[in-house]
Amino acid sequence: MSKLTRRNFVKLTSSVAAVGLTACAGGPSPSIAGNYKHRVVIIGGGYAGAVAAKYIRMADSSVKVTLIEQNKHYYSCPLSNWVVAGFRDINVQKWGYDGLKGHGVEVVHEKATKVDAVGKKVTTASGNTFKYDQLLVSPGVGFRDLEGYDEAATHKMPHAWKAGPQTVQLAKQLKAMKNGDPFIMVAPPNPFRCPPGPYERASLVAHYLKKHKPRSKVLILDAKDKFSKFGLFTGGWKQLYGYGTANSMIEWVPGGEGGKVSRVDANSMTVYTEMEEFKSSCINIIPAQKANKIAVDAGLTNKKGWCPVNLKTFESKLHKDVYVIGDSSAAAGLPKSGYAANSEAKVCAAAIVAKLNHKAVPTPSYVNTCYSMLSPDYGISVAAVYKFDAAKPNKVQKIAGGLSPSKAPDYVRKQEALYNESWYQSIMADTFG
Ligand code: FAD
Repeated sequence: MSKLTRRNFVKLTSSVAAVGLTACAGGPSPSIAGNYKHRVVIIGGGYAGAVAAKYIRMADSSVKVTLIEQNKHYYSCPLSNWVVAGFRDINVQKWGYDGLKGHGVEVVHEKATKVDAVGKKVTTASGNTFKYDQLLVSPGVGFRDLEGYDEAATHKMPHAWKAGPQTVQLAKQLKAMKNGDPFIMVAPPNPFRCPPGPYERASLVAHYLKKHKPRSKVLILDAKDKFSKFGLFTGGWKQLYGYGTANSMIEWVPGGEGGKVSRVDANSMTVYTEMEEFKSSCINIIPAQKANKIAVDAGLTNKKGWCPVNLKTFESKLHKDVYVIGDSSAAAGLPKSGYAANSEAKVCAAAIVAKLNHKAVPTPSYVNTCYSMLSPDYGISVAAVYKFDAAKPNKVQKIAGGLSPSKAPDYVRKQEALYNESWYQSIMADTFG
C-alpha cells in the first residue's frame, strides 16, 4: 500500500466525491483502497449475512465490507407465524440496515446478478460491479418446482416462507376463510428452512380456528413421515387441539399415507396427491427447497442443490475465496435456522479475518436454539451445542443439547413462550443493532 501523503490525500478525497462511496465500478475508489487493507463483499443481508458483515467489521476495521442486499427492509421469519395467526403485527418483524452502517458496513440495496469467481467480482442488476478479496454468499433458500405453482400461483396460495407481504396475505386469507373450510398446508420434504416451522404454523392456525372458526380445521399434507420435535408437537396438539380424536383441529397426513402433493391448481384452489384432491379458499404451499438462485448461478451448488462448504471456515468446496453461510449452505449436522445462521456467520467472520491477516483459523463451535409455539402461551424448544472435529470434517458434531420435557406444567410452557420473545429481541439486536 502506498504511503498517504497530504498531496495524494487531497487527490483521493476529490476522487471519492467524483465516484461516490457505494458502487465501485471495476474496483474500489482509490480512497477506499487507501483506507482499507482488504475488501469483503457479502450477498444477502439476512440472519447470516448481516451478522457476518457486522462481526468482520468488529474484528478488523481495516476490512472494507460491502453488503449487497436487494431489499431496504428485512422481515424476520422467526415469529412470523404469530403474524399469520393474527396475534402479532408484521411491523414488529421489520428491520433496517442503519445499525450495520453504524459499524462501517457499506450497504448497497441492489440485487446481485452475477458472481465472477475468477475475476473476483460481483455484478448487480444495475450493472455495478464490486471487486472482492473474499466473497460471502448468504442469500437464503430458493424453491424447487412444483407443477402448477408458478409466480402467479404464489399470490393465490402463498408460501409465506420468506416473511413480508406473503405473511400478511396468508393472515388475510385465514381471516377471510369461511367457518368450516379447512386451512390446507402443504409441508415440504427434508431438508428445508426451519424444520419445526410448518408445525408451529399449523399449531398457531389451529389456535386461531379454535377461537374464531371452530368448525374449521388444519389439514397438513406432508411429504415426510416424521418431523422435528414430533413428540412435543403431537403431545401438545392432544392437549390443546384434541389431536387423534374425531374432533381434532389438526389432521396430519404423512407421506407414507398419501400426504405428498404432486401438483396444484391455483385457479380452482385445488391440491392433488397421488390418491386424492383437496380444495379450500385458504391454501399454504411450502415448496421443497434448495439454495437460492444467485448461489446456483454462481456454480456454488452440488447435485442436491445446496452449497458444499468446509465446515471449519464455510469456504466453498467449489470456489476458492468464496464462502457460503445460512440456509444455502450444506452445513451437515446443523439445522437451517436463523440461530444456526447467526452461529455460522460468526465462525465464518472469524475464519475470513484470520485468513486476511495470515493467522491460524480457530477451531469453531456452533450453537442452535429453536423455540416453537403451540399457542401464544405454550412454547417448546430444542437446543444444541456443536463442535468441529478435524477427524470427522464432513459433519459438525453435537456435543450437548436437549429438548423441552415431554410432560411439563402450564407455567413451564408459558415461560418458554416468554423466552421465545426475548430470544427474538436479543438475536435481532445482535443482527441489526
Ligand atoms: P435470509 O434470512 O432469508 O436472508 C437472505 C437475504 O438475502 C434476504 O434478505 C434476501 O433479500 C437476500 N438476497 C437473496 N438473493 C439476493 C440477491 N441476488 N441479491 C441481493 N440480496 C439477495 N429460525 C430460528 O432460528 N428460529 C425460529 O424461530 C425460526 N422460525 C421460522 C419461522 C418461519 C415461518 C420460517 C419460514 C423460518 C424460520 N426460521 C427460524 C428460519 C430462519 O428464518 C432462516 O433459517 C434464516 O432466515 C436463514 O438466514 P439466511 O441469512 O440464510 O437467509
